[in-house]
Amino acid sequence: MISLEDALERVLAAASPLPPRIEALDRCVGLVLAEPVLASQPVPPFDNSAMDGYAVCHTDLESVPTVLPVVTVSAAGRPSDRRIAAEEAARILTGAVMVDGADTVVPVEATREVDPPPGRDGTWVEIRDAVPSGSHVRRAGEDLAKGDVALQSGKQLGPSDVGLAASCGTSSLTVVPRPRVAVVSTGDELVAPGEGPLLPGQIYDSNRMTIAAALRTRCGTRDVTTVHVGDEPERCLADLADLAGSHDVLLTTGGVSMGGEFDVVKVALGNAGGRADVDFWQIAIKPAKPLAFGRVEGALFVGLPGNPVSALVAFELFVRPLLRGLAGVEPVVPPRSRGELGERMHKRQDGKVHFVRVRRDPDGRYRGAGAQGSHQLRAMAAADALAVLPDGHDPFEPGCVVDLIEL
Ligand code: AMP
Ligand code: MG
Repeated sequence: MISLEDALERVLAAASPLPPRIEALDRCVGLVLAEPVLASQPVPPFDNSAMDGYAVCHTDLESVPTVLPVVTVSAAGRPSDRRIAAEEAARILTGAVMVDGADTVVPVEATREVDPPPGRDGTWVEIRDAVPSGSHVRRAGEDLAKGDVALQSGKQLGPSDVGLAASCGTSSLTVVPRPRVAVVSTGDELVAPGEGPLLPGQIYDSNRMTIAAALRTRCGTRDVTTVHVGDEPERCLADLADLAGSHDVLLTTGGVSMGGEFDVVKVALGNAGGRADVDFWQIAIKPAKPLAFGRVEGALFVGLPGNPVSALVAFELFVRPLLRGLAGVEPVVPPRSRGELGERMHKRQDGKVHFVRVRRDPDGRYRGAGAQGSHQLRAMAAADALAVLPDGHDPFEPGCVVDLIEL
């Protein structure tokens, strides 16, 4: 049995970023940038108005109110082709190119349209309030000058990063790709939800759903291949070998415990010769003591335990860091938070780190979320976090501050 730290270290040693590749911008959110994005032109590309209003020469605002003829219009995407002179105004809209000859925008709120003065025609505007020179003009390049680094390599791209790249005119980025992951649930007793009714001894296959869902929500995985295999080792190995050709990571559930010839994954990979290279571990944690890690036909392989809570806990502890590492996300191990227990918790001194399903109560303190069996998903579903209870300490009193893995 190895420690949690040793196990994690061995997983992380294999968790280097996948080779970068070029990806269409609309597929890049959540991915890590592998090359910086430079502004190939200024952003914004031209001086433009920040408001709907009137572009004027500031000298005309020396005494307000003042009445000016509106001689042209500049709308977004439709610049004015006419210059204005002193004692003229141009109607201008937000984002429209600044009008030549004008240096200031007066917002529409500080103006009103008026009738032409006697003997004149056309549209006239009264400027009621003065604004400082240069007001409401957004300058070319004031967000990004040409050549500025818009996005640093290593950044995990959020919506605004994708938008910034788009505003530079970039349509594809060099990124670390998403790891391709397959989930294989094992067990002759498993029946897919919706099929059935259950025969004696059968249960519904929940792991395939939970692990695929965890991949999507916890790791940003888009497409997850899911497969169920029974307890026939040759079939299991054949399926894994097949999936290895098109996936970076293979996750199995079940069949890695102490069941001897009934542990299908263990037997399958034990018979695989050079096709698989696997450490079988007993990790000093509870739940999720049985866990296998290695490679099958070149793909990374994690053999998660069969019990549904164990599978999810092992996913948090090992699969998530592994996938973050492969995707280039830092920090590779998600930081833990800390929280106060709201009730006494006993921890058996068994040499293991325990992960207790806890919920956060309205007082901000954490209490057990229900029955803690590794087959009991209900408390996991009710939990907000896993409280980390290390060995060498008992009991944990109310008010005790512990590490938390938020769910
Ligand atoms: P195993 O290690 O394969 O013996 O599985 C341990 C326990 O987890 C057994 O009670 C299995 O029935 C259960 N189990 C295994 N796989 C799944 C699954 N995909 N969904 C729900 N329970 C499972
Ligand atoms: Mg099994």
